[in-house]
Amino acid sequence: MTPLEHHWRQVLDRLQAAANRFGRPAPTLLAVSKTHPASAIRALFERGQRAFGESYWQEAEAKLTELADLPIEWHFIGPLQSNKTRPIAEHFHWVHGVEREKIARRLSEQRPTHLPPLNICLQVNLDGEASKSGVAPEDVLALAQAVKDLPNLKLRGLMCIPEPREDFEQQRAAFARMGASLQQLKDAGFEGLDTLSMGMSDDLEAAVAEGSTIVRVGTAIFGARE
Ligand SMILES: *Cc1c(COP(=O)(O)O)cnc(C)c1O
Repeated sequence: MTPLEHHWRQVLDRLQAAANRFGRPAPTLLAVSKTHPASAIRALFERGQRAFGESYWQEAEAKLTELADLPIEWHFIGPLQSNKTRPIAEHFHWVHGVEREKIARRLSEQRPTHLPPLNICLQVNLDGEASKSGVAPEDVLALAQAVKDLPNLKLRGLMCIPEPREDFEQQRAAFARMGASLQQLKDAGFEGLDTLSMGMSDDLEAAVAEGSTIVRVGTAIFGARE
C-alpha cells in the first residue's frame, strides 16, 4: 500500500469510528486536493475515492483537463469572485462557498442548461471572523430565501470553516450551531436540504458528532501543503 492510500484509509477509518461512537452515519469524504498533483487524485480515484475539492480555478483547470477521462465529482471550496464564476459554473458539480446573492445569480446564469443544477452550500461565518468569508449566522435565512428559486442551482445546505479550537467540546459546540441553523431553514419550509459541509483534518470527529454529511480533508490525506 502506498503512503497516500494508507493515509486515505486512516481518514476513512476515523470517520467510521466517529460515526459508530456518536451514532451517526459516516459522512462523505471530500478529498481536498489543492496544491497536490493530478497523479495523486488519479491514484485515489483508482482506490475508490470519488469526490475531490479544489480551491482555485487557475490551479484546478489543468487537473480537470488531465483527469477528464474519470467521472470525478468536483467540488469548488475556495473563495468566489464574481468576475470568475463562469468556469466554476461550467466545470464543477458543487460549490461550497456561496456567501452572496450576486454570486449565486451569476452561477445560476452561467450554469450550462444541459447540465444538472449546480449543487450549492451557503458558507456561514460561524465565529464572525473578519478574515473569513461567509454570511453572518443571522443572515442565513435571508440569503437562502434569495437563492432558493434560482433555476440552475440546487441549495443543498450549509458550509463552515470555524475558528481553530483545540478543545473537542468547543469544536462540537461550534458545529452544533450549524446543525441548528440548518434546522431553522427546514422549519422555515425549505426542502431538499441534506448537507452540512463541515469538518477538516483536525476536527472531523467533532463534526461527525454534530451531523456533518461532508467532511473536507486535505492534510490528513495528502500531507502538508507548501
Ligand atoms: C484547504 C481546505 C480544507 C482542507 O483542510 P485540511 O486542514 O488540510 O484538511 C477544507 N476546507 C476548505 C474550505 C479548505 O480551503
